[in-house]
Amino acid sequence: MIIFSGGTGTPKLLNGLREVIQEEEITVVVNTAEDLWISGNLVTPDIDTVLYLFSGRLDTSKWWGVKGDTYRTHETMKELGYNEVMMLGDLDRGTHIMRSDLIRKGVTLTEATIRLCHYFKVKIKVLPMSDDPVSSIISTPEGNMHFQDFWVGKHGEPEVLDVSQEGIEKASISPAVLEALEKEDTVLIGPSNPITSIGPIIELQGMRDILRDKQVIAVSPIIGNEPISGPAGKLMTSRGMEVSSYGVASYYSDFLDHLIIDERDEVNEGRFNEFECSFSRAETLMKSIDVSVDLSKVIIEQFRIMQ
Ligand code: GDP
Repeated sequence: MIIFSGGTGTPKLLNGLREVIQEEEITVVVNTAEDLWISGNLVTPDIDTVLYLFSGRLDTSKWWGVKGDTYRTHETMKELGYNEVMMLGDLDRGTHIMRSDLIRKGVTLTEATIRLCHYFKVKIKVLPMSDDPVSSIISTPEGNMHFQDFWVGKHGEPEVLDVSQEGIEKASISPAVLEALEKEDTVLIGPSNPITSIGPIIELQGMRDILRDKQVIAVSPIIGNEPISGPAGKLMTSRGMEVSSYGVASYYSDFLDHLIIDERDEVNEGRFNEFECSFSRAETLMKSIDVSVDLSKVIIEQFRIMQ
């Protein structure tokens, strides 16, 4: 199964999916538009969350970083005057050092990620969406800033005027992602931020066309008019989108076949009639692994029905 993922909502779902299907059958296409060079190293937060989840290292109390990590290098770098916008743990930094070393030697991000999977004994396939740099840029009254400067550096506080994906016009879907998509008829869009996590993947040139030929199921990251976490609401509003599962369906409507919305979502179901996709309800608030497992079973059954 191919799953499009950001770094929090979809990894929570993957944690259940791995209990229901063989890890070798899982290919995760991961957003790279939140990646950032920090103190000389390329940090790829969404990829790393998936790598750490499947290698048993992830700090699942935060859904980022390595459990039990320390921050001594981070403190030192700050003392040395480096702008470490993200808190990078000492163990986590080892991953960034290896990845960046490989990239400086001419290895692609895809190959560097495959090698990290190998060393971490990760059995799923983790594929960066592209080997070309793409960055989510947030326009605010204080100026344009990288997503991490907005969300981590400024705690998501500035008013958001617009969101753009710098580099998206020149970026290509990676050859490994294209190959994976050629082999599969189904794609799952996980419950991740539609603008800064899924948006960059589906806005890559040709991706929407590819998805139109697939059976696509998405899980809404929005219940009612609020995301479960993160800035999705603010970012969707800045794009003129309604913050709701209807707004999510509308953004994916040209390729979406089925949307799973939360059982407590009070959206007017009749509004979905304007799209060609069907929808169903499930418990989507993944407060425990049991909910993630049950939601994974619902998704697999839905794919079976749609075959
Ligand atoms: P990021 O890369 O850290 O920004 O993370 P993602 O984009 O993968 O995840 C953030 C999105 O996941 C937000 O829009 C949340 O609403 C959504 N999310 C987080 N937890 C859950 C959950 O338990 N259920 C659902 N349906 N969505 C969730």
